[in-house]
Amino acid sequence: MTILGLLPLVLASPWIGAPPAAQDTETWLRCGMALVVPGEAPRPEVTLVVREGRIAAIREGYPPLAPGARAVDLREAFVLPGLIDCHTHLTHELSRTSRLERVEESDADRAIRAVVYARRTLEAGFTTVRNVGSSGDAIFALRDAIEKGWIPGPRILAAGESLSPTGGHSDETLGYREDLFELPGPALGICDGVAECRKGVRLQVKRGADVIKLVATGGVLSATNAGTEQQFFGDELTAIITTAHSLGRKVAAHAHGTRGILAALHAGVDSIEHGTYLDDEAIALFKETGAYLVPTLLAGQTVVDLAQDEGYFPAVIREKALRVGPVLAASLGRAYRAGVRIAFGTDSGVSRHGENWREFPLLVAAGVSPADALVFATRNAADLLGLDDVGTLEVGMRADIIALPASPLEEISALGRVSFVMQAGRIVKGP
Ligand SMILES: [Zn+2]
Repeated sequence: MTILGLLPLVLASPWIGAPPAAQDTETWLRCGMALVVPGEAPRPEVTLVVREGRIAAIREGYPPLAPGARAVDLREAFVLPGLIDCHTHLTHELSRTSRLERVEESDADRAIRAVVYARRTLEAGFTTVRNVGSSGDAIFALRDAIEKGWIPGPRILAAGESLSPTGGHSDETLGYREDLFELPGPALGICDGVAECRKGVRLQVKRGADVIKLVATGGVLSATNAGTEQQFFGDELTAIITTAHSLGRKVAAHAHGTRGILAALHAGVDSIEHGTYLDDEAIALFKETGAYLVPTLLAGQTVVDLAQDEGYFPAVIREKALRVGPVLAASLGRAYRAGVRIAFGTDSGVSRHGENWREFPLLVAAGVSPADALVFATRNAADLLGLDDVGTLEVGMRADIIALPASPLEEISALGRVSFVMQAGRIVKGP
């Protein structure tokens, strides 16, 4: 058979070139309880009418079905907006062999891993994520393939490479023999001085970044004993943030140490990720600038758990894990009580993909009300990501809708039992 003879078969594939269309008929979701606007009281017995991927109407009770419409029975379920995770790393997952994978796996291997992880994330009820750092182009290909409907996964806002100084937290060549890698530069996110910092941002945007991620301080999982304090200088932070803002991109800053948090906030960053060693000055600055805190308690918990296993991490990482992990939750509690704006993020990739929900009970244990924890993962996260069509189930919003068998306002762990997922009007899990 000739190549040409094969062509019609290829073109007939339902997955290539022809994304599954959003159902153009109306879908009526009959909800036992619906959290239409997180932060407000849930509404009992309503019907959400979904048309062309959006919420077209909200009706009281369960009116008779319009001709041609189809019904989904969620009368026993608690319905809420699709969840948003502002801190993921979809192209990898921490394991005992992570440092070896870095020299064994290709960009293609990472892309295929990411396809698996994206599906798990979506089926766990996370319909949008912000991916804050991944090497290579896999994350952009993943984002675009999901957007086209070729593969299932959350809507992704992607940062590309994290920006870091040489030897800083996201210098991926840290701890390896020097002849294994060329000295990385701005294309790989490694920038020293103002000019390289500007170039690093411009290169990420050129490659397709929706958002810029920088590491303001040292971090836990980098193989260096350089601690968790400030790494970029103030002029470098300002160069990154002003360049990103001038190109219409927000900036997320990884930061543990107090000086690094303060420097990033002073430079005008849009969110601080982790925020471990917050002090009163930092809390006041958060409130003054309106920056969000993305606490990632699950990452702290995960590294503490893994560090119990003595051989899991190199000694230099183990020490940081045991020191930093326990402080995160206390700082988050303080920021919450002080009224800092908080958005939900897990650092999944450190924890396992698809278990993002485990951040919720940790937030509640740190003193956050279940209602506010849901606001962090919906309206606040949408606001941080600059998306105005997700985060509530009001008329006109994207039909990103999930359902649980019980109310998370009464039982937070119900978020680990997502039974139904609709994304932009398409049912991807459930009846
Ligand atoms: Zn991270």
